Amino acid sequence: MKDIRPLSVNLALTRKCNYNCRFCFGRLCELDREPEDARVLGIPGILAGIGCRKLTFEGGEPLLNPRLGDLLKVSRQCGLVTSVVTNGSLVTKLWLETYAPYLDWLGVSLDSSNERVEKELGRGNGGHVARVSKVASWCHELGISLKINTVVTSLNCDEDLKDTILELRPDRWKVFQVLLLNGENKERARDLAIGNRRFLGFQRRNRAVRDSGINFVAESSEMMLGSYVMALPDGRFFSNREGRHVFGRSSMIDVGVMAALREVGWDVGKFLARGGVYDYSRRNEIKGGESISKKGSSMSREAASRIQSHADKSGTNQGFKARAQSAAESNEK
Ligand code: SF4
Repeated sequence: MKDIRPLSVNLALTRKCNYNCRFCFGRLCELDREPEDARVLGIPGILAGIGCRKLTFEGGEPLLNPRLGDLLKVSRQCGLVTSVVTNGSLVTKLWLETYAPYLDWLGVSLDSSNERVEKELGRGNGGHVARVSKVASWCHELGISLKINTVVTSLNCDEDLKDTILELRPDRWKVFQVLLLNGENKERARDLAIGNRRFLGFQRRNRAVRDSGINFVAESSEMMLGSYVMALPDGRFFSNREGRHVFGRSSMIDVGVMAALREVGWDVGKFLARGGVYDYSRRNEIKGGESISKKGSSMSREAASRIQSHADKSGTNQGFKARAQSAAESNEK
């Protein structure tokens, strides 16, 4: 399982953030070693070289890393689908216009339609919902695919967010059961934890957004453990599979992707089961500039079959075969 090449990788660019969410587990201590050198710019090419299709930049708040723009450009040159996960507060229209040619997906955090709840969670100081609405409208204007990320906690699990989501019109809405990690947020976010029953209640109340064409995806905290391939700017991988962060010793820049990834491992079965493979392509093709075609940016038939064959063997995800097949077929149209 550990030798399956990843289709999608998350690169944590900084531990800095201008927000202070109580449930945050992205302030990785290892990011104190953020490399000042330019070696991070080699990572997109290394990942593309082993068949990775999508690279997501996250943090902390990735817009606080001054190399983000260059990383997006390099990733695009390597043919990767690019994604940035942000709290949205530092995204300006000018920033989006500047990087729209290199950015396929923007993932923005929104947990509640109520500014008071967002503030109580530490998500900004009372203007977060309005900010996300603005960022969403810019994404639509510029043809950037929009994902909304919602962390479901004891403060928002009873909320009906459908109307807000329908107004924001994301392509994908991902809802996460709050995840507590030892050594990160476990102590300070204990009161925000919810059980599976309340998480399911949130899903039942909100999943009808699917009827409007929004790709609604729910991820339990158990499903998050070990199912993401995550890397640091120095090229080491890290994992949360044991309920805490564990870090590899070697960098993919020095020893190659698979050798570095083997040090922490990843759970491809969970990756498939949580819907990690979907049509990665951007909503609209870019006109002019360094455009990438929809066909080029989505999953190739080869990549789909590689992962599909593993799914068949492991029997972990019965729905995957159809999704992989349909994504591959849509590439060929
Ligand atoms: S916005 Fe994200 S990185 Fe910043 S504190 Fe909140 S969860 Fe952490």
